[in-house]
Amino acid sequence: MRRLRLPNTPQLDALARAAGELYSAVVVDFWRTVRKRGIWLKPSSMMRWHTSNQLHAHSADAVVQSFYAALKSWRKRRKTDPQAKPPYRRRRYFRVQWKSSAIRVREGTLILSNGRGNTPLVVPWPWEAPVLVELGWTGTDYELRAVYSRPAAEPVAEGGVAGADLGEVHLAVVYDGERTTIYNGRELRAKRQHQNKLKAHLAAKQSRMRKGSRRWRKLRRSKQKQLRKLENQIWDILHKQTTALVSTLHERGVQTVVIGDVRDLRKRVDYGPAANQRIHQMVTGRVRWLITYKAEQLGMRVVLQDESYTSQECPRCGSRHKPRGREYTCLVCGFRFHRDGVGAVNIRRKYLGLGPVVGVMASPTGVRWHPHQRTCVARDKRERIPAL
Ligand SMILES: [Zn+2]
Repeated sequence: MRRLRLPNTPQLDALARAAGELYSAVVVDFWRTVRKRGIWLKPSSMMRWHTSNQLHAHSADAVVQSFYAALKSWRKRRKTDPQAKPPYRRRRYFRVQWKSSAIRVREGTLILSNGRGNTPLVVPWPWEAPVLVELGWTGTDYELRAVYSRPAAEPVAEGGVAGADLGEVHLAVVYDGERTTIYNGRELRAKRQHQNKLKAHLAAKQSRMRKGSRRWRKLRRSKQKQLRKLENQIWDILHKQTTALVSTLHERGVQTVVIGDVRDLRKRVDYGPAANQRIHQMVTGRVRWLITYKAEQLGMRVVLQDESYTSQECPRCGSRHKPRGREYTCLVCGFRFHRDGVGAVNIRRKYLGLGPVVGVMASPTGVRWHPHQRTCVARDKRERIPAL
């Protein structure tokens, strides 16, 4: 931990005030939802609801997390102290935290990102990059607290890299070092099944007719029309989900998307006719292609990473076993995580050459396809240049 006094500047005031505004909004809306709906919103919902256009996305998340930490400590204290007060108070100023993804050290300066389009906080810094930086108030002036908990040297810059595990049940599961997001493939699977059934049904019907007859030709036209419609619906799902994926990563400052490579899966496996049909229709190829070109449009890089054993390996201790059920539980070290997130975590870890994950991982959030999602990556975001 390293502390550094900073003279008051309008920028520091503005940052602390932005954090204060966000904190106050979280306090107000949390208790309002409790009062009106009787629901305690989850941190993940609150993070999606409340963001700040003056803070880095992870800094904004940290503010929300601070509120939940206060809430948790109140619930704990309440058991022994009936006078304990829940976090009701709004704050004009609040501490600002920068996580590793927002921290850069370059040529003797510490650059703390405040999100796209905002001026970063730049501080003279002859030391190594910390993993967490906090801007606090000492009562008279601002203080920067830099935390070094992990070894400072890592093979590749960790910030800005997301691992993506493409699959059958879920179109993609993405882990960006903090959040895990699951892009659901349920609707897509339903369309696929329908497509197979329809093909079989129409082929059987057609086989009973004389080839080239009027009825046969009519049925062929109808078949083509029905299958084309389904194919369009499938593309729609793929487009919308991959756009959501790429846009979200881009907004969160990801520069490199690491995709688990499954290209030789078709050659390797033979699970019997039913499973084969599913595997050979795998959409992972299409999804990979869509993610790649959309990410490149936004100036992101896409790399492939061998994904052998990534779904079986424990991210904490490295032991391998096949998960059972929805939860991955390591039999050796007890690490627990949503099963589908493990692959994405490991793909990212392998690419970065990182050691074991530490601490508790936030549970994944799901993104389902819905008809009104946007189809193409936002053009205005692509063209906006971050001011320095
Ligand atoms: Zn383990």
